[in-house]
Amino acid sequence: MQYDWIIVGAGMTGAVAARTLAEAGKNVLILEKREHIAGNAYDELDDAGVLIHRYGPHIFHTNDEEVWQFLSRFTEWRTYRHKVLAEIDGEYMPVPFNLNSMVIAFGFRKAEQMKKALFEKYGEGNDVSITELRSAEEPLLCELAEFVYENVFKYYTVKQWGVKPEDIDPAVTARVPVRLSKVNGYFTDKYQGMPADGYTAMFASMLDHPAITVRLNTDARDLLTFSEGKLLFEGAPFGGKVLYTGPLDELFGYAFGRLPYRSLDFKFETLKKEYAQLCGTVNYTVSEDYTRITEFKHLTGQKCPVTTIMKEYSKSCGEEDIPYYPVANEGSLALYARYLAEAEKYPALVLGGRLGEFRYYNMDAAAASALRLCRKHL
Ligand code: FAD
Ligand code: UDP
Repeated sequence: MQYDWIIVGAGMTGAVAARTLAEAGKNVLILEKREHIAGNAYDELDDAGVLIHRYGPHIFHTNDEEVWQFLSRFTEWRTYRHKVLAEIDGEYMPVPFNLNSMVIAFGFRKAEQMKKALFEKYGEGNDVSITELRSAEEPLLCELAEFVYENVFKYYTVKQWGVKPEDIDPAVTARVPVRLSKVNGYFTDKYQGMPADGYTAMFASMLDHPAITVRLNTDARDLLTFSEGKLLFEGAPFGGKVLYTGPLDELFGYAFGRLPYRSLDFKFETLKKEYAQLCGTVNYTVSEDYTRITEFKHLTGQKCPVTTIMKEYSKSCGEEDIPYYPVANEGSLALYARYLAEAEKYPALVLGGRLGEFRYYNMDAAAASALRLCRKHL
């Protein structure tokens, strides 16, 4: 079979691109080194029959109409609004920190005063990043900012990134703003939900096309050779294009050094009770060495007499670890740019996805990027 495209990785980026290219008449081969499709969104039944996410909790949310319509061709959706609580010294407060959290933290009277000051400065209903709130000068807002910084962001961020909030890209903490409303959901996107039969089923449906071939358990580095501007597939020159969604430093043998990523250890526990916690995720923002506990049944709506929870432990990504989060800073972006310059020597090579583009993409952003790059190359 003559392939027009080889796609490395069967995650969101690879799958969306594969389907789009196949529907445009291209023959696509996907190489996936894992034993399954769906990348980090992969879900499966555990030994107790509970539907779990092997690589961390995934909740779909987007404002992107095109992405929503595209994915909705391959799945029905379970309506689900993800709720997160922070456990702070025995109290549970909604995250993002909002007007309800403020009443729990400060009591009704003081919370009312703070609310007034917040509305005057930032406007009712708006979101404010912790970085912005910390620059406020009004004493009441300083007190609020200090509380939220100390109790929601500081320790969680140190656990997750190994450094304090002020030492990472402010866009990272801005993902979880302080919300000047009583809306308790984690996300505010127009479309939010979980694939009704799970992510793996959605991906299987997306990849079910006569022009798509998927080879699992196949590391692309064993079949593709990039050398001196030439691209070989199984030892012979390849005339098509390659979309690579893995880590760019790995593709070039770490020639310029390793790009920094954070990795995670996941600890799953099945408990003999119907539910273990109040909502989908509880963040441990002032205690414990894991960042959060997710209970999948809240996300999936599955009914069964037992439940499975998962704790996430963050760590720097070593040689044997899976790179989950690109760490963006001046140095890493400069290093990525060097790899990018190397990649540009191969006109047939297209980079995509959270690892290939070294960007902190949510699933919808990965899908949007895949659709964009297909438009560009078709
Ligand atoms: P991936 O899903 O990582 O897929 C890349 C694939 O390429 C992998 O399957 C990998 O095995 C394969 N690959 C790599 N190198 C090679 C090689 N050499 N040969 C063959 N195959 C290779 N997003 C949300 O929208 N909502 C959430 O709730 C959410 N929660 C998350 C929680 C965690 C803990 C993490 C880590 C991420 C979360 N995300 C979430 C982000 C989401 O996982 C990504 O946006 C999405 O997976 C990106 O898709 P991708 O295809 O770019 O990458
Ligand atoms: N964050 C925090 N406390 C929280 C939630 C988030 O400090 O209770 C910070 C932390 O730095 C985290 C970032 O905000 O890495 C983004 O959080 P998000 O939940 O979006 O992370 P993800 O789900 O991608 O791991």
